[in-house]
Amino acid sequence: MSDTYVIALGSNRPSRTAASPRRLIDRALARLQDEGIALIRRSATIETSAIGPSSRRYANAAAVIRTDYDPQGLLTLFKQVEQEFGDRRGQRWSARALDLDIILWSGGPWHSNRLTIPHPAFRERDFVLGPMVAIAGNWRDPVSGLSVRHLHARLTRPTRATR
Ligand code: ATP
Ligand code: CA
Ligand code: CA
Repeated sequence: MSDTYVIALGSNRPSRTAASPRRLIDRALARLQDEGIALIRRSATIETSAIGPSSRRYANAAAVIRTDYDPQGLLTLFKQVEQEFGDRRGQRWSARALDLDIILWSGGPWHSNRLTIPHPAFRERDFVLGPMVAIAGNWRDPVSGLSVRHLHARLTRPTRATR
């Protein structure tokens, strides 16, 4: 029985490294398809050159996928693929080649000690909601009941008197 997921892909690379973060995200999506995962839609990749001495490049994208993996199994695969692509050394927020997060899925809220869906921080992240709007704008956050489009508009509205 297959489920549909919205996933976020992120990459953070020193500018000097050979593979651009954009290319890395393309390769990650291809890698997931090799695993039998169906790519339903993908967003454009947003690439940002960081200002300042770190000279890193960031890239973010989102995708809608369909798969027989359950959430726990998909997370395990994601961690494996992150390691294959990876140069991170176990530090949260450190520069890393690839970050794969599960944002939403067709099964509603999910919680275990390793995994929370919806992803706890996605409502506050423009780099997650922005790419999601174009490919999953009508998906609903089962916690707030708001659509992705609505969450994004709320986040990026110029004045936010109330939250
Ligand atoms: P953030 O979660 O704030 O985006 P991060 O992606 O840098 O931070 P990681 O170090 O990649 O955090 O992941 C830490 C742990 O979060 C993972 O080992 C995983 O078990 C857990 N996790 C919980 N919910 C999710 C989710 N929805 N998608 C991916 N990982 C999750
Ligand atoms: Ca993340
Ligand atoms: Ca992650």
